[in-house]
Amino acid sequence: MQRSVSVVGGGVIGLFCARAAAAAGWSVTLHDPTFGARAVGDGAASWVAGGMLAPLSEGWPGEHALLALGSASLRRWHDPVLRADLAGRGVVVSSGSLTVAFDSADAADLRTVADWVGAQGHDLEILSRSEVRTLEPSLSPRVRLGLSAPGELSVDNRALVLALESAVRDRGVQIIRAPVTDLDALTTDRVVVAAGWSTSRLLPGVPVRPVKGEILRLRARSGSASAPTRTVRASVNGRAVYLVPRGDGLVVGATQYEHGDDTAVTVAGVRDLLADAEAVFPAVGDYELAETAAGLRPGSPDNIPVVGRLDDRVVVAAGHGRNGVLLAPVTADAVVAELEGEPLAEAACALPERFPSLTRTRAR
Ligand SMILES: Cc1cc2nc3c(=O)[nH]c(=O)nc-3n(C[C@H](O)[C@H](O)[C@H](O)COP(=O)(O)OP(=O)(O)OC[C@H]3O[C@@H](n4cnc5c(N)ncnc54)[C@H](O)[C@@H]3O)c2cc1C
Repeated sequence: MQRSVSVVGGGVIGLFCARAAAAAGWSVTLHDPTFGARAVGDGAASWVAGGMLAPLSEGWPGEHALLALGSASLRRWHDPVLRADLAGRGVVVSSGSLTVAFDSADAADLRTVADWVGAQGHDLEILSRSEVRTLEPSLSPRVRLGLSAPGELSVDNRALVLALESAVRDRGVQIIRAPVTDLDALTTDRVVVAAGWSTSRLLPGVPVRPVKGEILRLRARSGSASAPTRTVRASVNGRAVYLVPRGDGLVVGATQYEHGDDTAVTVAGVRDLLADAEAVFPAVGDYELAETAAGLRPGSPDNIPVVGRLDDRVVVAAGHGRNGVLLAPVTADAVVAELEGEPLAEAACALPERFPSLTRTRAR
């Protein structure tokens, strides 16, 4: 008899898990009240996100687990089967990313990242001021140094959500557009909880909390200078800023606050993002400010997601913080491996039992 699984939550994590479980032969039911009708005001991170897939340029000495997990997922993003499934839907929007430094402290940080991530066998390159100008002529002449990660990608997160919604429908996943309030009321053999920041409402011991992030969508107008062609990251006035290309312009992100489940976009957030973006890409002022939004990242205490079995029936896949789009493919493989009873070694760092509150409930 075909085994059945309910997936609770249809953000990028739940959608990827539902797609992978259906491909592995499970009868899948996906529960999400917003399926097919996403809106910025929902606060779900997947619809709001920037879409950088940048585990290498965000690497930092000592963060081995996050680098290994992120690069395992980035490899999957390059997989021809995954790319073919999403091809033609405008999901992957650019290749390569560039982190730029404006002062000697930032330049030293870039060299630290290049040395440490390079020593783990990844392809990163330090670029001089003139090499940065050749690669991305629209950037500020104040840039002193660059760090190029040619293997990183960026995706249009909304095109991705829509492509995944079609993919799960095509694979026969049953969709229920309503929230789940009681996991015990679900009748399937297994349950995967991938409800983003609200996972801890359904599974109170799981340490996932909302981390607010504001982000801007800018549209090119006739006569606007061309935007950078790859993701550009920088630190400006001590704040991280990134510009991710889109077909019609740019996404500029992102602020980060601990404000509970507040999704109001603040004046200060928009002001800082625009000022920081202008320091990197001076022609940004010609663009149309098409959208401001805030979303809630599902944060975990150690910035590593929580993915694995909690008991014989329930698997959790949450807490992806700033990297859920990047980590969705490896998470889906880890979840299917758990459903099949064999945890994925590459995702061992994400197992729930690393938190004392979750060790007792896991049964094998
Ligand atoms: C401003 C911002 C920028 C970001 N930029 C990037 C980036 O560049 N790269 C990157 O990799 N990541 C980025 N992220 C992080 C990424 O968006 C998240 O890690 C990822 O989207 C989390 O996906 P999720 O499916 O776990 O959660 P969500 O996207 O929040 O989805 C959760 C879903 O669960 C549903 N749900 C909730 N409760 C229930 C319930 N009881 N029953 C049924 N359904 C329920 C919700 O309706 C929602 O659709 C960014 C996030 C933000 C906010």
